[in-house]
Amino acid sequence: MTIEFSERVNAIPVYPAAKTYSHEGELTKLASNETPWSPHPAVLEAVERALPALNRYPDPDKSLLRTRLAERFELPAGRVTVGNGSCEILLAAAEALLEPGAELVYAWPSFSMYPHLAALSGAHAVTVPLDDGGRHDLDALAREVTVATRMVVVCNPNNPTATALPVDALDAFVASLPDHVLVLVDEAYVEFGTLQDPDESLALLSRHTNVVLLRTFSKVYGLCGLRAGYALGSEDFRLALDRVRQPFSVNALAQVAAAEALRHQDEVASRVERIAVERLHVESALAERELETTDSETNFSWVSLGDRDEDEVMRELAQRGVIVRSGTALGEVGNLRVTYGTREENDRFLAALDEAL
Ligand code: PMP
Repeated sequence: MTIEFSERVNAIPVYPAAKTYSHEGELTKLASNETPWSPHPAVLEAVERALPALNRYPDPDKSLLRTRLAERFELPAGRVTVGNGSCEILLAAAEALLEPGAELVYAWPSFSMYPHLAALSGAHAVTVPLDDGGRHDLDALAREVTVATRMVVVCNPNNPTATALPVDALDAFVASLPDHVLVLVDEAYVEFGTLQDPDESLALLSRHTNVVLLRTFSKVYGLCGLRAGYALGSEDFRLALDRVRQPFSVNALAQVAAAEALRHQDEVASRVERIAVERLHVESALAERELETTDSETNFSWVSLGDRDEDEVMRELAQRGVIVRSGTALGEVGNLRVTYGTREENDRFLAALDEAL
């Protein structure tokens, strides 16, 4: 006899985590859209100060962090949801909004967690292809919205294609939808954008009651090892999510680290600048090699490999200790997604790519 799992669980895809390869030398990890720098020293000190109190449960209200976020974004703290990474908020949103008979609409390829949301809730997923430039086709998404639609997810900038839509376009899109539909704008990479001020999208919150902006401390703040993300939306959204998840999901260290990290916006600005320099470096090097990329507004590039064998390129890079993500794992064969690391790491990637090609 073996234990039986529910049909629902059998339908949930396995998250395509980056492969780690047995490699003798140093690994160059450019597969998970992390930032290459340690957290700010003040963040590390805040974590150290919190260590002796680990015999206590974390604050279930996440008061300090929610208050700091509320101050920063000039919103009532009641409208701020904090999660164990933004992934937890996505999963809890699915649990709170979706069920069999309900529909979820999102573009594809996009973030690899989205297929989980329908599978875990029994809802129906409707996916809409990106346009030729790897951008969301908002008109096509809007056409898929029906009375059964509960949630539309727009990943902006989009993972894995790195492209971003202007806030005006999102505003018109949301205005065109019935307001029973939650529009969740996943802004995990929004701080890296150069086309517009990352906080421009906050205007969507004042103009529409059905928008949630989802952000994370994992990327520009460099705290993915601790897990903290947040959503700005309605108080109802927060209260519903709090009903479906355990009260202590955000650990004490994550709460203090994120609250401290928020106070160092100069560090954020400096990281964004350094990433922009690396983006230019990597993208011009790829262009010199006649490799096409989409217009990146993120900390990674989506590279078209043309008619080259994607598996072989991945294997050759891995043999040289360079780990990137294959397009196949992310929804579109014939591409690779490479995160920008330090200059040294990026040059290691480019040198390995030259050998691989
Ligand atoms: N959204 C997008 C688009 C992402 O790429 C990621 C991480 N890869 C997340 C959400 C989740 O990040 P976290 O749970 O670390 O906040």
